Amino acid sequence: MTDTKTRTDVVIAGGGPAGLMLACELRLAGVDVVVVDRLAARTGESRAGGIHARTMEVLDQRGVLDRFLAVGASRPIGHFAGLWLDFDRFDTRYPRSLVLQQSRIERLLEEWATELGLRVRWSSEVTGIRQHATGVEVEVGGPDGSRSTLHAHYLVGCDGGRSAVRKLAGIGFPGTPASVTALLGDVELTDPPAESLFMQRRPGGDFSVFAFEPGWHRVITTQYDRVADQGDPVTFEELRESLLRIAGTDFGMHSPRWVSRFGDAARQAERYRQGRVLLAGDAAHIHFPAGGQGLNLGVQDAVNLGWKLASVVHGRAPETLLDSYHAERYPVAERVLHNTRAQTALSRPGPQTDALRDVLRSLIAHDDVNRHLGGMITALDLRYRMGDDHPLTGRRVPDVDLKTDDGRRRVFELLRTARPVLLDLRGDTDLAAAAESWADRVDLVEARSAADHWPVWPAAEILAPAALLIRPDGHVAWTAPAGAGPDLAALRTALTTWFGPAEAE
Ligand SMILES: Cc1cc2nc3c(=O)[nH]c(=O)nc-3n(C[C@H](O)[C@H](O)[C@H](O)COP(=O)(O)OP(=O)(O)OC[C@H]3O[C@@H](n4cnc5c(N)ncnc54)[C@H](O)[C@@H]3O)c2cc1C
Repeated sequence: MTDTKTRTDVVIAGGGPAGLMLACELRLAGVDVVVVDRLAARTGESRAGGIHARTMEVLDQRGVLDRFLAVGASRPIGHFAGLWLDFDRFDTRYPRSLVLQQSRIERLLEEWATELGLRVRWSSEVTGIRQHATGVEVEVGGPDGSRSTLHAHYLVGCDGGRSAVRKLAGIGFPGTPASVTALLGDVELTDPPAESLFMQRRPGGDFSVFAFEPGWHRVITTQYDRVADQGDPVTFEELRESLLRIAGTDFGMHSPRWVSRFGDAARQAERYRQGRVLLAGDAAHIHFPAGGQGLNLGVQDAVNLGWKLASVVHGRAPETLLDSYHAERYPVAERVLHNTRAQTALSRPGPQTDALRDVLRSLIAHDDVNRHLGGMITALDLRYRMGDDHPLTGRRVPDVDLKTDDGRRRVFELLRTARPVLLDLRGDTDLAAAAESWADRVDLVEARSAADHWPVWPAAEILAPAALLIRPDGHVAWTAPAGAGPDLAALRTALTTWFGPAEAE
């Protein structure tokens, strides 16, 4: 099927994880989307090594997580600068990391996008943009010199760390330059280690060797005394020499499938929105891949932005709703940049760092420190500012079991269609009446909580609430506490803030 249309609601530049997730979110909301990517086809580069609990939760909310679980390997751990964190007792249905190569994650997201009626337009590079009062014109070039223009209401740059969209929109990308050089290769080894080696620290830097596919190993080295020139081509020999220097052996590496270099430059777009142009994923933030957070961050940007952009495109919410995307997501990435800088500092070779790591390791043995760092790396601790002070408001909704008229369900299953949900747990007729004017865009669900108490991050419990307003991204926008009448004025304010003015208004 060739997709040749030149007018659409939203153009997404970049068919990586952020672009694909955003495309699926928009398609679920009935938005017309074109995804363009400058590559001729997906490369199959392994890159990110897995996903964290919050990303598993959002994929579960859309009903596609099983596809990822079927091909990944679960481990109840994560790490901070190579110091192990125990995720086992975290209050989530997925207290673990899912080890899965980025290339497979992208393939699964693309399959889902295809089911939702979307095809990525490959060999299509965004080369120019022009914004006007009602839309944006996106110039796209092909490798054969062809040029075309796409007309859209909005353009989202999901085009990676060197984002052309970000530059064309004139959005600055301040931050700190690289101070280390990391090399990565997917190679064959004639003399592999008996088991995978993770972040082995030596005086010259650190190295990791993982078996990740039958016959294939991923080798990563980090040198803390060298900053490579980004313009220099990366070679297999450079990787081999680096491994030899740090590990004292190259494990007989040969036949590279892919070699790459990356650093710890940490930069963030100063604005995530410039008129009708928005940024998500690496286009909005880059950092060292310490703790494995980047892909997760981009997927979660997409889940925050998708329903808001859909609401604005459908004319239900004012354009100012899009400003909440920057307000909510900028601080999240800012914190990730900060923690990856800390992890780089904690990874440098030397006796002082060794001592610091020993101190931190002994602190991580305390449950609250483990939870603090684990909550940050997995994004399970995330709370957006949303008005009322109830401990659930602003947080991700817990995936508790519900009793409904049509049987037993889980809260996450209510979010499959990416529509907001007003969950009435007490059969309150006033609630239904208060929300009636939003019935076209908010699903009212009556149910009973199967549990008397609900978990709240990090390790608290509260009485099951009387009602909740849940945004499509799974965050609670309003809560009626147990044992008190619902504040219906506050509910109407939350409905208007997030889902636009009532029908008749
Ligand atoms: C070694 C390594 C390990 C990592 N490990 C992890 C991990 O374990 N967990 C984790 O969460 N993250 C990890 N990351 C980070 C992760 O790979 C990135 O954060 C992720 O790829 C970002 O996704 P994205 O969709 O924003 O951008 P990208 O994946 O970079 O996709 C951008 C897309 O845009 C396209 N594009 C670029 N310019 C244009 C243009 N002008 N027009 C059209 N298309 C364009 C590109 O071809 C590309 O397909 C790791 C990264 C590295 C390097």
